[in-house]
Amino acid sequence: MDKAKQQVVPAKCVHCSREMTQPVLCDSCASLNPLPAVTDHFALLGLPRRFELDEKLLHERYVALSRHSHPDFHANDDPEVRMLALQVSSSVNDAYRTLSDPVLRAGYLLGLLGGTSMAQEKSVPEGFLSSIMMLQEEFQDAKAAGDAKTLGDLGEVLRNQKEGFLRRVRTAFEQLDSASACEAARQDVLHEIRQLLNAVAYVRKMMTLM
Ligand SMILES: [Zn+2]
Repeated sequence: MDKAKQQVVPAKCVHCSREMTQPVLCDSCASLNPLPAVTDHFALLGLPRRFELDEKLLHERYVALSRHSHPDFHANDDPEVRMLALQVSSSVNDAYRTLSDPVLRAGYLLGLLGGTSMAQEKSVPEGFLSSIMMLQEEFQDAKAAGDAKTLGDLGEVLRNQKEGFLRRVRTAFEQLDSASACEAARQDVLHEIRQLLNAVAYVRKMMTLM
């Protein structure tokens, strides 16, 4: 992937011509600028394209863009400006919803990085299926017996599992960021992340049944 394309290029505001430090919303005159033709959720919010992100900054950017693209804010503007505000508003909501959830963010980032899609990847980490099947049996027994204590404990086990997988996802993405990785190693890491996300999806689904 072309590294340069991942960087958010500072542009000049089309309204006041001053340098912008983030896309779309001008820091100087607070007006909306056209959405870049090719963009992604990270670029839209002016964030680097990586898994680890500054959640405070993500929220700040979201709030600023939402406020400035809100229809009420543009009620007296020209139709083109109102149309742009609607576009920005919908893109920003989409971006925030995806990036604020670590599981969705990881899946989205994988999509940007290319390779096998999540839909094509069905495998899970080694040993995961037998452990989740054991938990499932324990869960069914506890439910049949009305054993609230065990059900609570199982919920805790699942939460811990999910957190553990997400920590491994974070570590794997960090490995990808290290420039030394050769293409084969990179593909292995991407494969591992997809497996981990599949495991998280299983665990999440089971948690909703509890
Ligand atoms: Zn401006």
